[in-house]
Amino acid sequence: MTILVTNDDGIHAKGLWALAAALKEIGEVIVVAPDREQSAIGTSVTLHHPLRAKEIKPLVEGVKTYSVEGTPGDCVILGLGHLIQGEVNLVAAGINEGANLGDDVLISGTVAAAFQGHLNGIPSMAISVAALNDVNTDAAARLATVLARKIGAHPLLKKTLLNVNLPNLPLDQIQGIEVTQLGRRSYKDLIKEGHDGKRKYYWIVRGNAQWHYEEGTDAWALSKDKISITPLHADLTNTLPLTPLKDLSTAIFQELVTP
Ligand code: MN
Repeated sequence: MTILVTNDDGIHAKGLWALAAALKEIGEVIVVAPDREQSAIGTSVTLHHPLRAKEIKPLVEGVKTYSVEGTPGDCVILGLGHLIQGEVNLVAAGINEGANLGDDVLISGTVAAAFQGHLNGIPSMAISVAALNDVNTDAAARLATVLARKIGAHPLLKKTLLNVNLPNLPLDQIQGIEVTQLGRRSYKDLIKEGHDGKRKYYWIVRGNAQWHYEEGTDAWALSKDKISITPLHADLTNTLPLTPLKDLSTAIFQELVTP
């Protein structure tokens, strides 16, 4: 089994190497990760300037490792398309410092990396721990190996992206696993204004997350000290308004082409 391991916290992040070390037990691991922090970069792909990748000394012995001057998405595209010879059986992104829940999957670089794997038809997972300090990666690393084996053996799991979030707890304090839906949160991004001596600048500061803890959502599972696994796919189509929109489309086109 060949496993591409990446992240968005950068090539030096502790979580990346915890994941690489764990997955090395079950397959050949190749790390292709951004050379610096790329959190909240989302699905960004670098098309307008050259990408540089260099092979570096791994923090875990025997793991071929590339540091990329690019986004998590770039890393997976470059890894699958060029750096790794032969078939890749799994893309694993993480272990991220901080949960990736609900609406936030749209800006998460960790989830985006897994999406690139998924879009290439490869079983993929994103793994995050819900803490920014003193992150305990032990349970997440162990879970990654269990999931990697299950994904390989289960046809349905091969076709989905798994967004996995763990509470920041030792394994013996975790209360179970819930398969969840994406939750919702309300937040207000704060815009801070400043001046750098030359020009005015703005800084987007994320407000405190106000999660809605509806039963069955990812945020709810974590609030119960459980692991959340949300299957994701890339089809963002909202099927509910399709029929009324189709009914409207002739009128919309008429209005468009009528001078
Ligand atoms: Mn991150």
